[in-house]
Amino acid sequence: MNESPVENTLRDNLQQVRERIAAAAAQYGRPADDITLVGVTKYVDADVAAALARAGCHHLGESRPQELWHKASSIENPDIVWHQVGHLQRNKVARTLEYAAVIHSVDSLRLTRAIDRMAGEKNMTTRILLEVNVSGESAKQGFDADELRNDVGEINGLTHIQLAGLMCMAGLGLDEGQTREQFASLRMLRDELAGQLPDASHFGELSMGMSGDFEWAIAEGATIVRIGSILFEGLL
Ligand SMILES: *Cc1c(COP(=O)(O)O)cnc(C)c1O
Repeated sequence: MNESPVENTLRDNLQQVRERIAAAAAQYGRPADDITLVGVTKYVDADVAAALARAGCHHLGESRPQELWHKASSIENPDIVWHQVGHLQRNKVARTLEYAAVIHSVDSLRLTRAIDRMAGEKNMTTRILLEVNVSGESAKQGFDADELRNDVGEINGLTHIQLAGLMCMAGLGLDEGQTREQFASLRMLRDELAGQLPDASHFGELSMGMSGDFEWAIAEGATIVRIGSILFEGLL
């Protein structure tokens, strides 16, 4: 059976992105397998997201929770692992826990406690990443580094979350040096906080890097890159 033009485009785009990830990993002396690609499907409908998964991108991310619920419940593919990557309101936690394996954008202690409590009610443990405001822009979500130094012990002690690492978005309109400085600050914060935890073996992920800056994020230690637009080039 012939593939549709959409599937061909997705396969080509995915291959190019994987090649760029592998090239950046090689350039900075890192194994390419240490970097997980999350395809962010917020620009496309469920059919295109399903086709991306069939093309081999099994980690899919959404920024709006309602859109994640919709796609995750309408696409039947047990290989897909869903990631909530955008801001999550507390009243949307319960439903999101039903679909998302990882929540990247946990940006306050109140939200963290709400996730722990609702995961407890469902008898589950959920993987979370704490979002850090590395750019210092007041419009951006996320913990300040100092807040996290203070709260990480409590968060790590919650029983129904697994604290898997940190996440950030670099500020817009910055050059390579400035962007890498922000990504490096997330890596250094992870290393510092790991030193505060009794057991940091599960606390290693750095979710950073999008279409415009993922190679710089890989240079600075990203373990998860969240990529949308360039996967859908030619389709949008
Ligand atoms: C949209 C989005 C991405 C992907 O952005 P692109 O620039 O399209 O690759 C990554 N992370 C978050 C939180 C997003 O909202």
